[in-house]
Amino acid sequence: MSYVLGLKCRECGRLYPKDVIFVCEYCFGSVEVDYDYDAIRKTFTKAALATRPKSLWRYRELLPIDGEPRVGHASGFTPFFKAEALGKVLGVRELYIKDDSVSHPTLSFKDRVVSVALTKAMEFGFDTVACASTGNLANSVSALGARAGLRRFIFIPADLEAGKVVSSLIYKPTVVAVEGTYDEVNRLCAEIGAKYNWAFVNINIRPYYAEGSKTYGYEIAEQLGWRAPQHIVIPAAGGSLITKIAKSLKELKMLGFISDAGTRLYAAQATGCAPIVTTIKERADIVRPVKPNTIAKSLAIGNPADGYYATKAVLESGGAAESASDDEIVEAMQLLAQTEGIFTETAGGVTVAAARKLIEQGVIPRDESIVLAITGNGLKTQEPLMNRLGAPTRIKPTLSSFEQQLQETLAACQPRSA
Ligand SMILES: *Cc1c(COP(=O)(O)O)cnc(C)c1O
Ligand SMILES: [Zn+2]
Repeated sequence: MSYVLGLKCRECGRLYPKDVIFVCEYCFGSVEVDYDYDAIRKTFTKAALATRPKSLWRYRELLPIDGEPRVGHASGFTPFFKAEALGKVLGVRELYIKDDSVSHPTLSFKDRVVSVALTKAMEFGFDTVACASTGNLANSVSALGARAGLRRFIFIPADLEAGKVVSSLIYKPTVVAVEGTYDEVNRLCAEIGAKYNWAFVNINIRPYYAEGSKTYGYEIAEQLGWRAPQHIVIPAAGGSLITKIAKSLKELKMLGFISDAGTRLYAAQATGCAPIVTTIKERADIVRPVKPNTIAKSLAIGNPADGYYATKAVLESGGAAESASDDEIVEAMQLLAQTEGIFTETAGGVTVAAARKLIEQGVIPRDESIVLAITGNGLKTQEPLMNRLGAPTRIKPTLSSFEQQLQETLAACQPRSA
């Protein structure tokens, strides 16, 4: 059963059949999946949802597939909880974390988009999938594509973190490390995609892929007890996640699942690659591409595909944007770990650091509900932490050696609960 009417141009509104189409032939605008919401209303109810498995496929009617899910059966429905300790440090009353750092199977929110994209690719009859990636997408296409039995071509910039490279290679796809920036990788992939009949998840089947990100927003609302928060701080690379969180809340409102909370969306980027943040701050009409230089490699897209729409979604919501320096990113990763026990990657550091600044500036009020989008896992980006966390306490294998150390440690460390 499909609820997809077809594809619709985001600019001129022209309609297309549900096919492998990603730009409007008339105006070159990007196209988006269009649903039959009247049909969806009949089966997609809170009561029906309550009986469904806790995965992203519980929102099946609002995802662009025709048949049954082929991969990612355990993806989605990641933890969501109130972050009391971090909230206290940031001086806010109601802070929540949506934690995709423990996403199944590859520890980032990309498992959402890839589950949807690979299912759609298989429906289209592709046996080969590919992607241009800053790391996490590579990992997810590698892993879920292995599970689905698909041939995989993974294109990455050659300077990625070791953890991201190993986390692709283990699944034995063809990994191609391109000597260039992500934007150069992406341009090359557009050329390759035009020549070979492969499903490039974030290029020729991007309209379907991107819909997977909506589940991040649905889950926030459902896990808050079918309520939208007042503020959501979101890391941006290509800018797709922001636009799809906005779409998810619009859909839930339209379907009567939540009431309008006037949710404001905030874009977070690294100062070394902040084309979307700059556009929002300057209220500019076009996104000016930049050359990335930051430790937040998963967000290092200098020419973001959805930059324009991300900017629009943020400004329409009444939100804002902020960036964080590499030092601020590492400090924020440590802060999140030491308050909430979550080891996030550099992108999560960007979110926490940007949120902190927005709160301190008074842009996000201290007494309203705030959600931080934590989208990736720190085990994959250990390089920026090397030589910054100190070393383990080294002792001889004797009780006396331990107790000598213990005196110093006890004096220095007080439990927070005391
Ligand atoms: C890809 C990615 C993002 C941003 O996604 P876009 O939809 O491209 O803006 C955020 N966080 C992490 C960890 C990512 O890998
Ligand atoms: Zn058009």
